[in-house]
Amino acid sequence: DCKTPKDVIHAIKEHNIQMVDFRFTDLPGTWQHFSVPVRLIDEDLFEEGLGFDGSSIRGFQAINESDMLLLPDPTTAFVDPVLEVPTLAIICDVYDPITLQPYTRDPRYIAKKAEAYLKQTGIGDTSYWGPEAEFFVFSDVRYGTYPYQAFYKVDSPEAWWNSDKDLGPNLGAQIPPKRGYFPTPPTDTLQDVRSRMVLALEAAGVPVELHHHEVATAGQGEIDLRFDTLVRMADRIMMYKYIIKNVARQHGLTATFMPKPLYGDNGSGMHVHQSIWKDGVNIFWDEAGYAQLSEAAVHYIGGLLTHAPSLLAFCAPTTNSYKRLVPGYEAPINLVYSQRNRSAICRIPMYSKSPKSKRIEFRAPDPSANPYLAFASLLMAGLDGIQNRLDPGEPIDKDLYDLEPEEAAHIKNTPGSLEAVIEELKADHEYLLRGDVFTEDVLDAYIRYKVTEEIDAVRLRPHPQEFVLYFDV
Ligand code: GLU
Ligand code: MG
Ligand code: MG
Repeated sequence: DCKTPKDVIHAIKEHNIQMVDFRFTDLPGTWQHFSVPVRLIDEDLFEEGLGFDGSSIRGFQAINESDMLLLPDPTTAFVDPVLEVPTLAIICDVYDPITLQPYTRDPRYIAKKAEAYLKQTGIGDTSYWGPEAEFFVFSDVRYGTYPYQAFYKVDSPEAWWNSDKDLGPNLGAQIPPKRGYFPTPPTDTLQDVRSRMVLALEAAGVPVELHHHEVATAGQGEIDLRFDTLVRMADRIMMYKYIIKNVARQHGLTATFMPKPLYGDNGSGMHVHQSIWKDGVNIFWDEAGYAQLSEAAVHYIGGLLTHAPSLLAFCAPTTNSYKRLVPGYEAPINLVYSQRNRSAICRIPMYSKSPKSKRIEFRAPDPSANPYLAFASLLMAGLDGIQNRLDPGEPIDKDLYDLEPEEAAHIKNTPGSLEAVIEELKADHEYLLRGDVFTEDVLDAYIRYKVTEEIDAVRLRPHPQEFVLYFDV
């Protein structure tokens, strides 16, 4: 629980730290780091910063202006729970060494500006965030890895499940597609692994609320963190991904936050629960409203639904995200809101009647998102909804996968590709620029990266299935 550089120096002594690791997030949302022997760490370093080469960091600087500075944020220091050598990790802000200003493409700076903008609007002073990031753990059959690709020449879980079970050993012990929620061990083979992940998270100062196996066949998990403010929660999602991947690795397993690793089974979402508070009061609560939502909350939803197509450029930001956002797998494709209904993009959880817990769950995001950019863009969209009294339409409480065609025709869907949402972002981003939270420069850099490194890289490459379909034409 460090607050100042002095506290950090004290923590280093107290925990016998030998190495200090400095971390920051690149534009697509991956942690980057380097380490310094503890002998070189002093209080001045928190003011002077540490230099690094920004030109090899995705989405950052050109080679001719590549010198950059990291300023460690002492409030983020934690003893790394997965490393062998006693290491203190600190999350940093990126600065320009010439102007000594925060770097406008640093995702963490964008998230900080979003928090400041909320205050500036007067709508609230604090926003709370509760993401539920799902993930898959893969390895060998022992730990419940998907056998179908590795052992059998079938291309889907259904095909595998319907195939001749004599093909291999121990198939009866496998969880069938979509049946992972949530039998006990030994069917759930990952209980102890998830428990170790939770213990490591809590040791690093990330409070956890629960963990469980998820719906997909053996290997899908979810660990839910206690809600917190925007930047802190984005920091924690970075810690979460790091710790989950590393604890999996310690067990000889591999964890992935890829949204849709398996054809024909559920993907991994990162539903984001959110609420806005002013003077200690949750402004989303109104006892008399639909699902106990206030007018402000309904307009906030109006903002999320109106801007959903462009928001997805940050919330479901990979080509693989659109293999998840399809009907039939508990991932939302309908741009509507509803209490309880999991087929709506915006769900209002009804578990509790307390004003404190009233919140909106936005279900489209997935864990491939950069959490700083995802939370910041969601807040900006919601605030635009409140400021411009955007109307989300009527709530729909029916199963949206099961509507009559006439009814379904009135409901808008999520766009079907990364390409489409990037086009939406080009057309609809005014709401992101307010308060200089996002800048034209960072949007350009982001779009350029997504188009060249992801969209084109996937679009121009022959797909394995094309060989099945077309090799013999
Ligand atoms: N895995 C589902 C998704 O892709 C969500 C399942 C759940 O409701 O937790 O969003
Ligand atoms: Mg879940
Ligand atoms: Mg959820």
